[in-house]
Amino acid sequence: MELQPESDGQPAIRPTQLIFHSIAAAWTPRRTYEYWRDSTSLESHFAVGYDGSIAQFIGTQTRADANFLANRRSDGTGAVSVETASNDNASDMWTNAQIATLIRLGVWMHQEHGVPLRVCRWASDPGYGYHRMHDAWSDGGTECPGDKRVEQFRDVIFPGIVKAAEGTPDPASRFAPFPGDDYFRDEPDSPLITAMGRRLVAEGCGRYEEGAGPQWTDADRRSYAAWQRKCGFTGVDADGWPGRVTWDALKVPAV
Ligand SMILES: [Zn+2]
Repeated sequence: MELQPESDGQPAIRPTQLIFHSIAAAWTPRRTYEYWRDSTSLESHFAVGYDGSIAQFIGTQTRADANFLANRRSDGTGAVSVETASNDNASDMWTNAQIATLIRLGVWMHQEHGVPLRVCRWASDPGYGYHRMHDAWSDGGTECPGDKRVEQFRDVIFPGIVKAAEGTPDPASRFAPFPGDDYFRDEPDSPLITAMGRRLVAEGCGRYEEGAGPQWTDADRRSYAAWQRKCGFTGVDADGWPGRVTWDALKVPAV
């Protein structure tokens, strides 16, 4: 639900923080969007409803204004903000559905933007926080997101983000490392060869009559040569014997 003109008009930020809010209204993300659009320009990047539904209004590398000075630092870093449905004085707890969504968002911020898995120790410190945590994040003070939610942040949400993020393999380890030149010349019979073959087919380089299968054959070599040519190699560099550069580019899933 892109919010204009803010989305195109506001300056770029490099997001280093995620800050949680309560909006003091039992609003859906759609209603929150309409509020930002029609009533005020103190928008957040995201909003989460009581049912865990989430919407985004501003790109995470564009300033949103919900966190006051957290988005006006001279080094270009900034905070991503998420508003959440609450009762009118933000005295209720986050629902389990909200918690699940907030944890997912927190993990995504770590993976996508490298937000470190720690609580912000001071106002410009990269990490995770809630609105009232640091004075510089509000203009004149705030209770947001409310006492019960501050406890939930410390006891459930932040630990949940850390646990989920640490349990997620780093993207590089999802791919099989290059097993070495000699490995292929021994004509292996391995699930790795099947995984490689499937990737070659997906890249339009399959030269299989049947398969791909686990046993290395000349069809694997012809398919791999097609991949090497697709990568821009010629001659002996496209002889069908896998090398490290083309292997890494192929991104064969770990088996
Ligand atoms: Zn707030």
